[in-house]
Amino acid sequence: MNVRVGAATDIGRVREGNEDSFLAREPLFAVADGMGGHLGGEVASRLALETVERLFEERAGSLTEQVEEANRAVFERSQQDRGVAGMGTTLTAALVEGERVRLAHVGDSRAYLFREGVLHRLTEDHTLVHRMVQEGEITEAEAERHPHRSVLTRALGVDPGVRVDEGYVRISPGDRLLLCTDGLTGMVPERRIGTVLGDVADPQQAADRLVSEANAAGGVDNITVIVLDFSGNGEPDDPVRAPATATIPDDAPVPAGDERRAGRDGPAAPGRRTTRRAIGAGVAVAVIVVALVGIRLYLDSQWFVGVSDDRVAIFRGVPAQVVGLDLSSVVVETAIEADEARALALYRDLDEGITAEDRESAEAIVEQIRLDVARARADGP
Ligand code: MN
Repeated sequence: MNVRVGAATDIGRVREGNEDSFLAREPLFAVADGMGGHLGGEVASRLALETVERLFEERAGSLTEQVEEANRAVFERSQQDRGVAGMGTTLTAALVEGERVRLAHVGDSRAYLFREGVLHRLTEDHTLVHRMVQEGEITEAEAERHPHRSVLTRALGVDPGVRVDEGYVRISPGDRLLLCTDGLTGMVPERRIGTVLGDVADPQQAADRLVSEANAAGGVDNITVIVLDFSGNGEPDDPVRAPATATIPDDAPVPAGDERRAGRDGPAAPGRRTTRRAIGAGVAVAVIVVALVGIRLYLDSQWFVGVSDDRVAIFRGVPAQVVGLDLSSVVVETAIEADEARALALYRDLDEGITAEDRESAEAIVEQIRLDVARARADGP
């Protein structure tokens, strides 16, 4: 199978740095979306892809094992270097192996197959809102607008081990594969992505067009896109091939401590999905344990300012509840009376939480509240 490649990455229209990275070195392609402040995000996504690329060149292990090793590399760096502590990244990789493409995936970047005018999503987002949709708490449409839609339940580099979704898809001539970060899918509806992929024949032009559409829609995040076009090896009549099977497994439960093995089961056999579902129903307790651990991993790097015991406080986590469980904990309780802050129009919604990028920003918000409250008191009635 011959591959033609188009790839583009763009800072977008709002962010000050580009924390996305991509790798396009045939037959290995990947996108990564870093997080953890400017520096951390850039380091995490780049280090993860460099690690996968190096191990691939050394022919060390399977794609999933290379991604697991990338996880360790990012985690260790974040432990050693305070400047990038808490960083992490998504990673969605595609390895072309003859007439099929192997996929490995962690986070909320995505892989799609565009075949005969229809766009098929191949990966599942590891996000809080996706889990809430699965649990029937919110609808797909609500998830798309949810204020915490970018909170990840799984990411690379935030823990010594990570569970990697793995699968493969059979490719036929004429197929188009899309890898992208959420800077595209958060801005451009899937229907529109499909239209662009159907309209623009050249893969580089298609990638560029998708980036410019994301920017036209606001470009609030970094945008990265890889488009792969497959064609036969010049034979006029390619034999009819089996229909594509997207075998990236569901967010199936794996008992804690068994997660390393999860990605190494080799090629997914037909029916594995069903099996996994059946296992999932059987070990409900394990599901809850894994879900909580998964959420906590990344929630620990989220911050917001809210109210605790009628005082302004700094929290770690997100101001939301899932199945009745608090996803946050108080880190610092200040002496500022919540009532005094709420009395100012700016902080009327304090109880819902004001999100902050990191602890320093949360402290800066508290200082601003302190100043504003003092000023209001001085102006007095
Ligand atoms: Mn992003």
